[in-house]
Amino acid sequence: MSIASEISRIQNELKPFSTRLIVVTKTRSIAQLLETHATGALDFGENRVQEMVEKHAQLPKDIRWHQIGHLQTNKVKYIAPFINLIHSVDSLKLLTEINAQAKKNNRIINCLLQTYIAQEESKFGLYTEELSDLLNDPSLSELTHIRIIGLMGMASFTADQAQIAREFSSLQAIFQRLKMEKIGESTGLVSWNELSMGMSGDYILAAEHGSSLVRVGSAIFGERN
Ligand SMILES: *Cc1c(COP(=O)(O)O)cnc(C)c1O
Repeated sequence: MSIASEISRIQNELKPFSTRLIVVTKTRSIAQLLETHATGALDFGENRVQEMVEKHAQLPKDIRWHQIGHLQTNKVKYIAPFINLIHSVDSLKLLTEINAQAKKNNRIINCLLQTYIAQEESKFGLYTEELSDLLNDPSLSELTHIRIIGLMGMASFTADQAQIAREFSSLQAIFQRLKMEKIGESTGLVSWNELSMGMSGDYILAAEHGSSLVRVGSAIFGERN
């Protein structure tokens, strides 16, 4: 199957939900990314800063780059000039650095707060309580060069679809509550528009649970090495 036909198949599946596809291009070659770009798909997800920076330099400038993997504070400066959306914000410290680098580049950077939903152990993501603490922190209103536009979550690495569905439901519920209660919106820096969950094995399930963005790699390109 060609990259174009897989992308078009997935986009058709997502259409009824108005869910947008982010093509996860990590580990894929420049030739594969150019082939992706030629289909008209413009949202590319990468999880390593150095790889993204190298690819950004070589590829058309209408691509919208998404940072989907854990982001270290000291690496923000490399992607700040061009990043479209950072999905993996998991601390106020990181958000503060993104703000500083955005300001230096005279731009505003959109962010999602990565929220912990998996049953399994994971190093990354905010627990519900940490999420509220961050959103209630008075210093948030000083971060004028960032926008928090939604949440991101990673389900457990399991074939158990019922468990994944429960985890997606829990994030959907958190998202809907934030949206309904307009949490953080009085700062002018927060709006609850995007929910990023779902990968190759579960993107339909994610769309059914209100995901506005799905991050799909291997269903398009095949297994990664
Ligand atoms: C790699 C990755 C994906 C895509 O995984 P596939 O199984 O290839 O679709 C999605 N989200 C994150 C955060 C990733 O690191």
